[in-house]
Amino acid sequence: MHIDIVEGCIACGVCESLCPEVFTVTDTSHACQAGVSGREDACRQAAEACPVSVIVVKES
Ligand code: SF4
Repeated sequence: MHIDIVEGCIACGVCESLCPEVFTVTDTSHACQAGVSGREDACRQAAEACPVSVIVVKES
């Protein structure tokens, strides 16, 4: 799985609250790819919960 944060993050913090091992929110959200393994479900939940749908999950 690969996580991309595309343009438009409003820094709401939801993704970090759902999966802090992957998402760090400062002025915008940053995804730590190294933290994704074993946390795929939390990453999918974060992508679904993002209010502006800027978390793009590539399953391959
Ligand atoms: S949930 Fe979406 S808008 Fe909120 S901080 Fe994360 S990427 Fe940004």
